[in-house]
Amino acid sequence: MAAQTEESDTAREQTKAEQDVDQVRQRAVRDQQRLDSGALGAKDLENVQRELASLAKRQSDLEDVVLDVMERREAAQERAAELSGRVEAVQSETAAAEARKTEALEAIDAEGFTVAKEREVLASAVPDDLIKLYDKLRAQGGGIGAARLYQKRCEGCRLELNITELNEVRAAPANQVVRCENCRRILVRTADSGL
Ligand SMILES: [Zn+2]
Repeated sequence: MAAQTEESDTAREQTKAEQDVDQVRQRAVRDQQRLDSGALGAKDLENVQRELASLAKRQSDLEDVVLDVMERREAAQERAAELSGRVEAVQSETAAAEARKTEALEAIDAEGFTVAKEREVLASAVPDDLIKLYDKLRAQGGGIGAARLYQKRCEGCRLELNITELNEVRAAPANQVVRCENCRRILVRTADSGL
């Protein structure tokens, strides 16, 4: 924005400087016409000639001003163009990232929907009191209500079960719900439980 302001400021400055040159030039044209008319007396002739010389000097000075302004304006234009290019690049990167985000969110939503459906089907096959216990433990256990017992270790709290605990789990019938003595989560026995 600053570069664009600089650009429009120098554009205005250039117009003003060109108008100044134009005024001096018109005045010189009028003086020249008076000279050419041949109607001037000796004294006026001298005055007009002197003024023409001073107008020529003034015009040259003002033209230098115009050139200087034009150079500054060109630099400002280049800078503004370069910066708008960068703004456009960043905007398109942002748009691409937004699109990726939307896509990812849609995928997450779809997965969430599928998982919720699957859970519903699985939960309908589990006794109500066990589901209640599981949901309670899940709320207490940071979203994890049941954990795999893997190589003598509870994967919920990562602690290894001691001999007594292992013996109890080992002795428990397959349909009995066993729990971790440490974190109280439901332990899921598999072939890799180390029992
Ligand atoms: Zn545990």
